[in-house]
Amino acid sequence: MLIFEHSRPGRRNYSQSPKAAEAMDIPEKLLRKTLPLLPEVSEMDAVRHYTRLSQKNFSIDTHFYPLGSCTMKYNPRACNSLAMLPQFLARHPRSPESTGQGFLACMYELQEILKDVTGMAGVSLTPMAGAQGELIGIAMIRAYHESRGDTARTEIIVPDAAHGTNPATAVMCGYKVVEIATDKEGNVDMAALKAAVGPKTAGLMLTNPSTLGVFEENVAEMSRIVHQAGGLLYYDGANLNAILGKVKPGDMGFDVIHINLHKTFSTPHGGGGPGSAPVGVAPRLLPFMPVPIVAFENGTYRWQTEKEIPQSIGRLSAHMGNAGVLLRAYVYVRLLGAEGMHRVAEFAALNANYLMAELRKAGFEIAYPNRRASHEFIVTLKDLKEKTGITAMNLAKRLLDKGYHAPTTYFPLLVPECLLIEPAETESKETLDAFVTAMKEILEEAHTQPDLVKNAPHTTPVRRLDDVKAAREPDLAWKAPTRNISVTRTETLTAIPSVSVA
Ligand SMILES: *Cc1c(COP(=O)(O)O)cnc(C)c1O
Repeated sequence: MLIFEHSRPGRRNYSQSPKAAEAMDIPEKLLRKTLPLLPEVSEMDAVRHYTRLSQKNFSIDTHFYPLGSCTMKYNPRACNSLAMLPQFLARHPRSPESTGQGFLACMYELQEILKDVTGMAGVSLTPMAGAQGELIGIAMIRAYHESRGDTARTEIIVPDAAHGTNPATAVMCGYKVVEIATDKEGNVDMAALKAAVGPKTAGLMLTNPSTLGVFEENVAEMSRIVHQAGGLLYYDGANLNAILGKVKPGDMGFDVIHINLHKTFSTPHGGGGPGSAPVGVAPRLLPFMPVPIVAFENGTYRWQTEKEIPQSIGRLSAHMGNAGVLLRAYVYVRLLGAEGMHRVAEFAALNANYLMAELRKAGFEIAYPNRRASHEFIVTLKDLKEKTGITAMNLAKRLLDKGYHAPTTYFPLLVPECLLIEPAETESKETLDAFVTAMKEILEEAHTQPDLVKNAPHTTPVRRLDDVKAAREPDLAWKAPTRNISVTRTETLTAIPSVSVA
């Protein structure tokens, strides 16, 4: 039910009504001539409505949410409450440097800490999503080649396990994508890489640990091959949980990396919420970094702009990026410290490997059984589907009935009927054990009552949605039923006497 359907003419929440326009001294010509169409509900109606809506959702605050590649982990409340201090909230993004030294100090320190975590020479905080960080990274690689007059490089090499944003980014930057295969142990096929590099290679985009949940065993060799051919190396560090502070992409020879703060560094995500994906660069890309960047000289923090970085690829976000997300990340890294970051990586890997071992014991097939999991791993239901007709989608939907959000399904595309499972470091052993029990029950149901699994979910507010229709023909607009409107307007007029109506 929509909030508008609770609307009753004249019902209001007076304590939160806007002040009368007169009292706010708004010039007559700026006052709106027609009233906005708003639901008329009491405060309690509004609270109940939105609380009920929130309870229909699966969320990390209510359920285990093992969504591989996209990391749904607990975000400490302290990070949010400090990022929301009124002094931060009240700060205008265009206020002078002299009145924002505290905020600039936080941003500067975050740049420095991320430099240390990634082993890079410079960090820009401006990108507002992983995909935008990638776009900036590849744009810098292009600017680098162009600045040297090296214009014959027209190709970006992307392993077939990559997130879809990688090839999309390369194409957006005007490159041709050369896809290379993965071998049966989940590593990039080195023969395919050697065959793909050459004078046309502008760079390689690598996710490590890859979306197959394994750490590239030949990363040093890959880095050597691509550099020798004159290409640069891009590190998709969307999810750093497995390596946080343990190994540094800079030490692996990478020239540029993006990190999703909304996965690893304490900003909740999903549903298109605000993101932030700082990019780190090796020394040779420093001249091309997006601006602004925070500098610290003679005890003062200030913005560096195009004037000082004339070859900068430019600006990609208003002002300096997503301040709220950056502040949460700053608090998070300060709370953890270097030692805490190591523990995040250790527990992320421990939880993933424990869960992988327990699911294997429970009868599930692991896609890369000879490899250690990083922060995530893949279960394949290929055999189960052949024997029982139960697909990864069926199992995912049945998990909802048992109180678990489904893992990522059908990604990466390489593994048939796959579930990409990432428990994250914030879950307890009891939660992981209970998840294994639920998975085991579904495996039994697949053999004994397959229809129960095929028709799941049975207990959710909506059953199976047509997700193609939902994406292609979304029905999101609410149309006002005409009957209410005239009444609504006169009633509201008396409630806010100072609003003038044509
Ligand atoms: C999430 C993710 C991205 C994209 O990040 P967005 O913020 O969603 O644009 C890129 N690569 C990998 C490996 C990811 O997991």
